[in-house]
Amino acid sequence: MKTKALNITQLQKKFQSQELSSVQAVKDYYCKIEKSNPKLNAFLEIWKEKALENAEISDQRIAAKKARVLEGIPIAIKDNFMIKGRIMSSASKYLENYISPYDATVIERLKNAGAVFLGRTNMDEFAMGGSTENSAFGPTKNPWDLSRIPGGSSGGSAAAVAADFAPCALGSDTGGSVRQPAGFCGINGYKPSYGLISRYGICALASSFDQVATFTRSVFDAAKLTSVMAGADFRDPVCQPNEYIDYTSGLDNLDTLKKLKIGVPKQLADYQIDAPIAKIFEQSLEKLKKAGAEIVEIDVEAYQYVASLYKVIMCAEVSANIATFDGIRYGYRSPNGVNLNDEYSKTRAESLGYEVKKRILFGTYVLGAKNYYRCYNQAQKVRTLLIDELNAAYEKCDVIFTPASLQMPVKFGESLPEESDIFIMVANLAGLPGFTLIGGQTENNMPVGVHFLSKR
Ligand code: GLN
Repeated sequence: MKTKALNITQLQKKFQSQELSSVQAVKDYYCKIEKSNPKLNAFLEIWKEKALENAEISDQRIAAKKARVLEGIPIAIKDNFMIKGRIMSSASKYLENYISPYDATVIERLKNAGAVFLGRTNMDEFAMGGSTENSAFGPTKNPWDLSRIPGGSSGGSAAAVAADFAPCALGSDTGGSVRQPAGFCGINGYKPSYGLISRYGICALASSFDQVATFTRSVFDAAKLTSVMAGADFRDPVCQPNEYIDYTSGLDNLDTLKKLKIGVPKQLADYQIDAPIAKIFEQSLEKLKKAGAEIVEIDVEAYQYVASLYKVIMCAEVSANIATFDGIRYGYRSPNGVNLNDEYSKTRAESLGYEVKKRILFGTYVLGAKNYYRCYNQAQKVRTLLIDELNAAYEKCDVIFTPASLQMPVKFGESLPEESDIFIMVANLAGLPGFTLIGGQTENNMPVGVHFLSKR
């Protein structure tokens, strides 16, 4: 029995009816991975032996009617989540041989729920980028068109789900890193509110933006994974002490659409949007209207500052977080240093990529004594302004609806305009939940994502 692009819910039905075992499903995924991963480079490493062993245990539990909520469900994990005893490289030469000493909170929760980890997926180095070209281990290709980027930074996870190497995958989203590649690869990408899921055990990029996020084939699956992973964790100080919530409940009630007020930012008109995206976005609006939703125009002037303020705050936080990679405690250490300072600088020069160095330099600059008030502090004020404007917009609407990206995925070596993902980036700046869904397909069969930005 071959698994054909099944989602979690469909897999679970087949497991329950014994039409398919977890072991067989895992074997089928590996079969596809072994055949096509050399072409796509979605996975950096696979864990076949352990996965089959765990799938076997899951099959026994299912047979004994002791199935846990994700029993035997295969999942791909972005290479910046710690799994005890496994390499977590963050696609950097610096952490190439780093072995995680413990499980990230979400990994622990997924393990306890019976999920089966297939392997770790490629990404932009330390999640810096939007194309997966910044990986130290080569780029990932977009399964829909191998000459194009899959998006990023979680491009490996997005490609893995799109190529049906796995029914779902984990990513991290600091400025759209799950929701942008989800759109480029034609799957769902969901980032919950800031603080809903613990980031303990995940390689930090920008701590006031970072959130765990999911790639799935259905909205229901995203809600299911989120229900397993969310909830209080004293090891992440910003994690909200929520009671357990089943996020899948009520999802099948389409009546909610009838009362929904959907806000479309007036500012979309200020940007160049690729024609197929503009067309599919309009068609999606029509569908929403037909389903009973009311479309209202909203005005958020601060969109114009999003790219700049994201860059200032993100790089500032990067320069602080990456300071831990000094070649002394763990990771790469240059054999060429002649004194301590030389050791630091050679370690970094030899092991970090261009994008990472650029961000450390810029972040250090904006935090410098002379620039702190002019750049960093100013950016934080504008961030508050943005949040205030979004709050005002939510007086008029329930959700904000935009394209997931203003541009189609480019070819390798070409770059996307800086503002291509500002409409999804605001989710991280304001701590809001965002969801990329498939809006449609272009005439060349490339997927196009649309994005809902909701209140916390
Ligand atoms: N593309 C954005 C950046 O390069 C987002 C990164 C992310 O979400 N990890 O910063």
